[in-house]
Amino acid sequence: MNLSKIWLSSPHMGGNEIKYINTAFDENWIAPLGPNVNGFEQDLKDFIGNGKEVAALSSGTAAIHLALIQLGVGLGDEVLCQSFTFSASANPITYQGAKPVFIDSEKQTWNMCPKALKEGIEARIKHGKKPKAIIVVHLYGMPALMDEIMELSTQYNIPVIEDAAEALGSSYKNQKCGTFSNFGILSFNGNKIITTSGGGALVCSSEETKKKAVFYATQSRDDAPHYQHSHIGYNYRLSNISAGIGRGQMEVLEEHIELRRKMHFFYKDLFASIEGIQVFEEPSADFYSNHWLSAITVNPELTNGINREDLRLAFEKENIESRPLWKPMHMQPIFKNCPYYGGNVAESLFNEGLCLPSGSNLTDEDRNRISNVIKKIFN
Ligand SMILES: *Cc1c(COP(=O)(O)O)cnc(C)c1O
Repeated sequence: MNLSKIWLSSPHMGGNEIKYINTAFDENWIAPLGPNVNGFEQDLKDFIGNGKEVAALSSGTAAIHLALIQLGVGLGDEVLCQSFTFSASANPITYQGAKPVFIDSEKQTWNMCPKALKEGIEARIKHGKKPKAIIVVHLYGMPALMDEIMELSTQYNIPVIEDAAEALGSSYKNQKCGTFSNFGILSFNGNKIITTSGGGALVCSSEETKKKAVFYATQSRDDAPHYQHSHIGYNYRLSNISAGIGRGQMEVLEEHIELRRKMHFFYKDLFASIEGIQVFEEPSADFYSNHWLSAITVNPELTNGINREDLRLAFEKENIESRPLWKPMHMQPIFKNCPYYGGNVAESLFNEGLCLPSGSNLTDEDRNRISNVIKKIFN
């Protein structure tokens, strides 16, 4: 087979990234601070708006960790977390010696179900422990039901962390994902909508919380001429080289969102006449997804028995990458003893769902190869 590989989501450079990197070399800013870090933070701040401050960090996972620290999550605490997500949403809870309590999704957005969340909050309070925080995810770029979730946050006085790692540029009722709550997090890993080769950011509600994040991220150095520490510190700041890639990527972000959204409409067209296949889409005009990954669910009862694994293998034969949806955290061996609230929405999405190639750099030829697989299997 000499067909080139079609990836789910691969890095897509705009061209100016290398200029920012060269400037860093010319000025010898080869460090986890410098003009690119400041410039990238400013670009992100301008982009997401809503009076937020942004701290550039080494990863999205680090950003979640620092949000939990700032919310005072510690040993023995409980944190409510969307079950249907990537493990990086939940892992930092355990870094703090706290325990994740998982919550099911609803069918419209595939994100945290407000009913299950309410049930979880009340059950944990009854059990003797009020949860310290709620981690809600905007999965695959789809905004969660933020009105309902923020209402519960206010009612029970539990702060929310928005995991917007996959949702840079998505919005709900014209407000950008990551800006609804106390803290939002972004990721610039290699597979995300923009990349710094590895990196992330914490979206903060004030100068003060941003400063604190940067303090913890740079080894918690107290203000003194010598090295003095009154807190445990972390080495979580973003490199000035990586931030240079980020500045170049910010110049093409809007364009890349448009291209990802076009991939979604390509799949809407492709599957329009195929019974039993549902393309994941916004439930109403209140939701605007960056469509980081296009995804489908397959109902074998309506496709003459063809299931999502048949599709995945048919793609694989043509050197095209596709992947089952995230396996829910409450089904993961490592989290099997964690409490879980809800039904089987996340579980059935995992059983029936498939992510399809969605990159902003896919060509007409790539799209032809993808359509041919589908046409062949459904003829
Ligand atoms: C990628 C991702 C993260 C982690 O971001 P990193 O930058 O890779 O640490 C967290 N949550 C979700 C939902 C993600 O997709």
